Amino acid sequence: MKSILLLTLAALLSVGCDSQKPTPLYELNETAYTFGTLVDVTIIGVDEQQANDAYTALLEDFSYMHNTWHAWQNNALRRINNLLKTGANFTLTPSVFPLIQQAQALSKQSENLFNPAIGEMVALWGFHSSEPDEFAIPPSDDEINALLNAAPKMADIDVEGLNMRGNNAHLQLDFGAFAKGVAVDVAIEHLRELGIKHAIVNAGGDLRAIGQHDDRPWHIGIRDPRSEGIIAALDIGDGESVFTSGDYERFFEHEGKRYHHIIDPRTGYPATGTRSVTVIHDSGAVADAAATALFIAGADNWQRIAKSMSIEHVMLIDEQGIVHMTPAMAERIEFLQPPGKIRLSE
Ligand code: AMP
Ligand code: MG
Repeated sequence: MKSILLLTLAALLSVGCDSQKPTPLYELNETAYTFGTLVDVTIIGVDEQQANDAYTALLEDFSYMHNTWHAWQNNALRRINNLLKTGANFTLTPSVFPLIQQAQALSKQSENLFNPAIGEMVALWGFHSSEPDEFAIPPSDDEINALLNAAPKMADIDVEGLNMRGNNAHLQLDFGAFAKGVAVDVAIEHLRELGIKHAIVNAGGDLRAIGQHDDRPWHIGIRDPRSEGIIAALDIGDGESVFTSGDYERFFEHEGKRYHHIIDPRTGYPATGTRSVTVIHDSGAVADAAATALFIAGADNWQRIAKSMSIEHVMLIDEQGIVHMTPAMAERIEFLQPPGKIRLSE
């Protein structure tokens, strides 16, 4: 009797797992250092050859995008930055066009908190280097104020077709806050074109997934901003991406104070009051830009910016460790240990 029950249960369960379930012909799990970070890729549901070919294509994409969009290398972006400062008309490199267009829209929606035009300010703080100097010192108020007065923003760039012109001598594009999001979107689109239906691309904790993992959704962890461990986990749906901005990613300490890499364009200083922000969205580019903007907006203003950027799933951990979330995020997230204080708002 018991075995019949078990068999019936097994049959019911397998009916419950619909045809969306990937056939686990082969599972590719690879990690590569690219785009300035470790990128973990899992591909399932296709044979070994197809998975390997897709992985090779993906690495080529990442390396091309990294070389083209990197903020402090001699590349297409540097040429554009040099020309933008002159105020002359010039023709844009097509590979950078979609970034500029999307960045202009996202910047506007974020009330310019996401402002990739402040590359000079980011460089002034010493964050334009692959190995940030742990003994760096903050720039002087005079240097910061000079750039604050210049106030470069994405709207200072006129774009007409592939022709472009800068209207601010201090414009310097730095796509560090959303290039990874764009790259993950490009990678996932390419995997789809190659016939991959189930995969996850995780670039140093920022990721996007398609399909599912065997008969379960992809399950991922979110880093605790004050330890190396995981604070929470969640299931991600087909096509969703999860991006986190944190004050622990790049920083230096001076006289007991932490100076991190997310600069508030209104003050010229690293944004205060936030430890990390996690955003779920269908587009990696939007999630990445929004995580940066909401980090700067902080515990009192993230709701307004999230609305104007159409972000429904947000978790912000403030400097006291209080967890602020939208109700939609609270429904999705599982904490490993219950956090001290949770504040829900939308
Ligand atoms: P993220 O880790 O996505 O929040 O991006 C942080 C990176 O974006 C920094 O290392 C800078 O290169 C750049 N950045 C810093 N502040 C801003 C800002 N307010 N808007 C856009 N990009 C920024
Ligand atoms: Mg970002």
